[in-house]
Amino acid sequence: MIAIYPGSFDPITFGHLDIIERGGRLFERVIVAVLANPGKQPLFSIAKRVEQIRYCTDHIPNVDVDSFAGLTVDYAKLRNAGVLLRGLRVLSDFEKELQMAHTNKTLWDEVETVFLATTKEYSFLSSSIVKEIAQFGGSIDHLVPENVARDVYTFYQEKVKKD
Ligand code: ADP
Repeated sequence: MIAIYPGSFDPITFGHLDIIERGGRLFERVIVAVLANPGKQPLFSIAKRVEQIRYCTDHIPNVDVDSFAGLTVDYAKLRNAGVLLRGLRVLSDFEKELQMAHTNKTLWDEVETVFLATTKEYSFLSSSIVKEIAQFGGSIDHLVPENVARDVYTFYQEKVKKD
């Protein structure tokens, strides 16, 4: 069974990476798919996010990284994937995720959404938290892979120079 792990990954965190590693043990293949979301103003371009994820998932043999625009179920059909993989952290994730899972089911009744519960130490971790800390000069080395931390620090250093 092939699973799609769709998300913004702006940027990828250790919480995402944990879901990818565990998903890779459950499914034949996991396709990490960066969603081009017109509703969000991203820190990194889609191409950069794909590059960052490729670099830090290089050690997992059955993981592919790609990007898509449009409906997740259409992309899943295109890639022959019957499972959408998502992570759950806190109760507030649940409401949004359940709504999305039900919606996707109405669009394609053969798709299944599989949720993995976050690993405890990452339950507080989100891409937004990472950006908030880095923006104010805090360390994010314990929250994201090394290549990503470098890119985030560089982004905010350059922003300070511009402002
Ligand atoms: P989206 O904009 O689609 O929510 P995200 O990149 O924020 O994209 O998240 C993608 C998926 O990863 C979501 O299912 C989210 O709940 C899950 N996720 C994010 N951070 C964590 C974490 N720390 N632990 C487990 N799952 C997570």
